[in-house]
Amino acid sequence: MNKFQRLALFLSQAGQPDYRLTQITRSIFVQKEINFAKMFFLPQQLREKLEKEFGFWLSIEVIKKDYSSQVKKILFSLSDNSRIEAVRMTYRDWQSVCLSSQVGCPLACAFCATGKMGLVRDLTTDEILDQLLFFHLEEEGADTVSFMGMGEPLLNDNLFSALEVITDDRFFNISQRKINVSTVGILPNLKRLIDNFPSINIALSLNSPFPKQRQLLMPSEEKFPLAKIFPILNYHIRTNRRKVFLSYILLSGVNDTAQHLSALIALIRSQGGEAYLYHVNLISFHPVAGLAFKSSSPRQTDFFKSQLARSGIGVTKRRSLGLSFRGACGQLTA
Ligand code: SF4
Repeated sequence: MNKFQRLALFLSQAGQPDYRLTQITRSIFVQKEINFAKMFFLPQQLREKLEKEFGFWLSIEVIKKDYSSQVKKILFSLSDNSRIEAVRMTYRDWQSVCLSSQVGCPLACAFCATGKMGLVRDLTTDEILDQLLFFHLEEEGADTVSFMGMGEPLLNDNLFSALEVITDDRFFNISQRKINVSTVGILPNLKRLIDNFPSINIALSLNSPFPKQRQLLMPSEEKFPLAKIFPILNYHIRTNRRKVFLSYILLSGVNDTAQHLSALIALIRSQGGEAYLYHVNLISFHPVAGLAFKSSSPRQTDFFKSQLARSGIGVTKRRSLGLSFRGACGQLTA
């Protein structure tokens, strides 16, 4: 049970009227006051009981902040001293927050700093929510929330209860359309996500149109092959009419050849009536110590972009605001 559910249960078991929960959540989400001792609209006895029961509302502690004008990278310490990172990026007129879902990650993608750590553990629902709450309390919250930090979100069942609180209009009240989940394609949780949160944005980490090569880059391909992932994504497009994003980290000489480009176009076209809602995000690779990969040249990246566009496939070159802090996708190592 997450702490918002525990709070609701505690209040009802204490015989408090229904409006108490609203008063407290307004304090947290509107007045940005999380200290029960300072919630003076509550009877003193209740304030004391809440303080005793819940202590300090944030379960994670900030141990380091790295700020540039557009990127804020926060290192958090958890109750067992594990560390995770979350990043807030500012693009012109909107704020995007990137959250972690696990300490480390078990999937060992060859190009990923987090994958080198292995899995330490899943984050609890509260630890996922508190990363977002931290940014909300410190500033203006987030226009969009992305699960692209440490870990594979669909390997952690707590993602689902976190999404319930994030989208709940009593709490964070963020629309599903403003939430992005980036995944290698974990089944059956991908289907569960689609069925429970049909408007959420899904980004599949693709990175190669060739299954054998994808398996070398992303060992998860063996258990969760593209051949099983695409039918689920097509089901999502058919049922919910939502765009699906295909993330493609361009690695020089590895997956940026003309053969890769043709196979990528063919793979998307082979999705038939659903092909038009696939959108490719081309992502530049950030150097990771100990990994031999290099980012594709700007010229090759532009070539991929123009050829995909000429083939009628939606494509975006993702700006990499995390670069100066090594805080972009797959670069969070805590
Ligand atoms: S890219 Fe994502 S899934 Fe792969 S190892 Fe890194 S965090 Fe895990």
